[in-house]
Amino acid sequence: MKMHTSFKIGGPADFFVKLKNIEQLKKVKIYASENSIPFTIIGNGSNLLVKDNGIRGIVAKLDFDLLEIDEDTGVVKASGDYPVSKLARKCAGKGLSKMEFLAGIPGTVGGAVRMNAGAFGGEIKDILVKTTYLDENLDVKEFSNEEQDLSYRHSIFCGLPKLIILEAEFQLEKDSEENVNTRIDEMMKTRIEKQPINYPSAGSTFKRLPDKATAALIDQCGLKGYRVGDAEVSTKHAGFIINTGNATAKDVLTLIEIVKTKVYERFNERIELEVVIMGDE
Ligand SMILES: Cc1cc2nc3c(=O)[nH]c(=O)nc-3n(C[C@H](O)[C@H](O)[C@H](O)COP(=O)(O)OP(=O)(O)OC[C@H]3O[C@@H](n4cnc5c(N)ncnc54)[C@H](O)[C@@H]3O)c2cc1C
Repeated sequence: MKMHTSFKIGGPADFFVKLKNIEQLKKVKIYASENSIPFTIIGNGSNLLVKDNGIRGIVAKLDFDLLEIDEDTGVVKASGDYPVSKLARKCAGKGLSKMEFLAGIPGTVGGAVRMNAGAFGGEIKDILVKTTYLDENLDVKEFSNEEQDLSYRHSIFCGLPKLIILEAEFQLEKDSEENVNTRIDEMMKTRIEKQPINYPSAGSTFKRLPDKATAALIDQCGLKGYRVGDAEVSTKHAGFIINTGNATAKDVLTLIEIVKTKVYERFNERIELEVVIMGDE
């Protein structure tokens, strides 16, 4: 799985499949359920920490590559596997705004909806109209925005991991292509300045606290540059744990516990993981 995660960490999956369309997805789901094989869906693996013994059963990634942009109405439909950074740039190219914040996020539509991804004051919740998903009985269904319980890095899909996001529909607004691209370029510049994007990571390791920047608390604990094996609290942004070489999931998990404990001891704050942990020790 280290080949399929932005952290470049994780042991093997028993089976790894890329699915081209919904028929293939249904076939694999039926096979898995008839043979009692666990089934896990991933996107770009950019919010995942996969444990060192990998993931039992089938790990699947959608590869539908579907995109529809209606320039006149601003309605955009993209399949669950569509990379959100590419989506934001394509919409910018059509003079459609409100998706700029997604340009620097290395995930897919499915991962972004599931996590209610956000940045620079924008989040999926602001632009999502509805999500089409495959349920456990292999029926295709929809949730409206309001039905998805979208809040900070949370959606209804977090508690229902068997649902597979097939497609999302967004409502964007007209602007000039130049304005939209300029805003994206500014956001990208800020990311390059502030985030350790030249090292493998899963983005912010921890969730923001309601009233405080978690990274600032970690920094004040003197943890920038603290290492376990090749896992390190980034010296550039204390909210990121990075893989400086051959970090194992065990290294990262040990470092996570150290960070949590130090922040609790010093500030009496319990910080929670944003990163999703999968697999076996
Ligand atoms: C350098 C860097 C910067 C980042 N910056 C940001 C940021 O600014 N804001 C932010 O919110 N996040 C950020 N992230 C984290 C990450 O990119 C987002 O959480 C992203 O939305 C995850 O998408 P993914 O496709 O990679 O999902 P994965 O990491 O592959 O999966 C995440 C979860 O979604 C589930 N999932 C994936 N696809 C589907 C599907 N089709 N149906 C159902 N469930 C699915 C998986 O099972 C898993 O539980 C950053 C990460 C990195 C590495």
